[in-house]
Amino acid sequence: MRCPSCGYLESKVVDSRPSEDGTSIRRRRECLKCQRRFTTYERLGDNPLVIVKVDGSSEAYDRNKLFRGLLIACAKRPISKEQVDDLIDSIETELRNTSRTEIRSKELGEMALKRLAKLDDVAYVRFASVYKDFQNIEEFAEALEELR
Ligand SMILES: [Zn+2]
Repeated sequence: MRCPSCGYLESKVVDSRPSEDGTSIRRRRECLKCQRRFTTYERLGDNPLVIVKVDGSSEAYDRNKLFRGLLIACAKRPISKEQVDDLIDSIETELRNTSRTEIRSKELGEMALKRLAKLDDVAYVRFASVYKDFQNIEEFAEALEELR
């Protein structure tokens, strides 16, 4: 969302609520550069997030896919589905607040890892091994080291 005052592209959402008819969301935003506040109306589903993969191809963001990936990483760990849901909510909120419409898959993985690290070491390493695409045992050991 471009700031109407200075043209800067990044803003944060300070308030968000559905419009009267429920077909769009009214957002109060604050420009990260000049702090001017402005209002936007976004139609629901108008701004699908696009994931850009390592090979350069892209696909629509799929919450269920991320959810499944995280559930696999969290299998048999003391993490509830609600915690995984909260984790994804937190990622989606961060993305919305920066008005991102595109994100590299690695970047999305990092965002999930940052949050997993606070929840469970084992789930973190499992997820990291998929997202970071470890080439050898040294890289894997380094990721473990980062947890300390
Ligand atoms: Zn501005």
